[in-house]
Amino acid sequence: MIQVQDIEFAYRSGGFRLRIASLRISAGEKVAITGPSGSGKTTLLNLLAGVLVPEAGTIVIDGVGVSQLPHEDRQDFRILRMGLVFQEFELLEYLTVLDNVLLPYRVSPVLIMDEIVRERAEDSVRDVGLGRKVKRFPGQLSQGEKQRVAVCRALVTQPSLVLCDEPTGNLDTSNRDHILQLLLEYSDSSGAPLVVITHDTELLHCFDRVLDSASWESETES
Ligand code: ADP
Ligand code: MG
Repeated sequence: MIQVQDIEFAYRSGGFRLRIASLRISAGEKVAITGPSGSGKTTLLNLLAGVLVPEAGTIVIDGVGVSQLPHEDRQDFRILRMGLVFQEFELLEYLTVLDNVLLPYRVSPVLIMDEIVRERAEDSVRDVGLGRKVKRFPGQLSQGEKQRVAVCRALVTQPSLVLCDEPTGNLDTSNRDHILQLLLEYSDSSGAPLVVITHDTELLHCFDRVLDSASWESETES
């Protein structure tokens, strides 16, 4: 469950300010965020992920006031509890497919890697059709394949919240549908809320709710 109340955020360098009075997303709810470029969609996702911190207001996730946590705790909370899919995949070029999927376990001492985790990672890679490419490097993959690796990585920690920034941009229809299906099924089976930023109007019917970022109170100064 995500509860956002009266948040205000501005980038230090100025130029953009976002205010959101209230936003609630319940367990298992699937929410799409759509709206014009520059309207603060990625900013909100980073606020929910605790990458950015609001100047005022609260963000509570599963009873934890994320925006009030000290930096390190916020980072641990994110690694332990959230699955993030970034627009640019953020795969490490020098790691294989499998090691990229397992990356959260490599970078954080709060997650413990064991055989079960390793098997889960391998299963997920097979499930997205990359079973024969586990030892490949990102430079040897297509865009669609990279995107599938990014989704496997987001889900391998069995997160209690999944946040995706245009996870199906630049994909062909069958890859797009497959990735979306994976995310929706995970949300269904785990009860994790799923928040997806997307410009793809054909996908909106798959979600319980669609938020339009044009309705948020934001200011852009030049
Ligand atoms: P969207 O994802 O809806 O396209 P963003 O949340 O990325 O929009 O950006 C909202 C506004 O904030 C834009 O005007 C953008 O230029 C500005 N912005 C984004 N990131 C930064 C940053 N790191 N520093 C300053 N301004 C930023
Ligand atoms: Mg964006």
